[in-house]
Amino acid sequence: MTDTAPARPTAILRGEEQVFYAHARQREVVFQRCGDCARAVFYLRTICPECGSENLSIERSSGLGRVYSFTTQHRAAHPFFQHDVPYTLVLADMEEGFRLFANIVDCDPEQVHVGLAVETVFDDVTDELTLPRFRPRSRLGETTA
Ligand SMILES: [Zn+2]
Repeated sequence: MTDTAPARPTAILRGEEQVFYAHARQREVVFQRCGDCARAVFYLRTICPECGSENLSIERSSGLGRVYSFTTQHRAAHPFFQHDVPYTLVLADMEEGFRLFANIVDCDPEQVHVGLAVETVFDDVTDELTLPRFRPRSRLGETTA
C-alpha cells in the first residue's frame, strides 16, 4: 500500500448499531421482536415502528433468507472499493420476517435472482468491524428450507 492508496471508509457505530455489530462479531445476525404486536423489527431501535411499544427484545436470526431485490455495482462507491467492482448487493427477506441488506459473495452476479435462497456468512473486515454477507445456499439447504 502506498501513501496515496485510499483508506477504508470507517463507520462510527452509535446506539443500537453497536449492539448489532457486537453480535455480528460473534457470528450472529440479530433483530428485535415486539413483545406487544409480535412484529419483527430491523434495524435495531428503541420503539416498535408498528405499534409504538418500547417492549422490544433481541432475537437471533437463522441467517437464512431469500433474495427480495438486488443490484450489481459497476462503479465503486468509494475509491477504496475500486478493485472490488463489480459486486452485488442483496436485500433479502429473512425467515423471521425482516429484510437485511448485504453484499453477496461466492456467487457470480449473473447467478443472483429474486427468490434465490441465501445464508449469512461473516467477514471480519477490520479488527473492530465484522460485516454480514450473503452467499447462495446449497441445494441441500434449499430443499430443507
Ligand atoms: Zn409493536
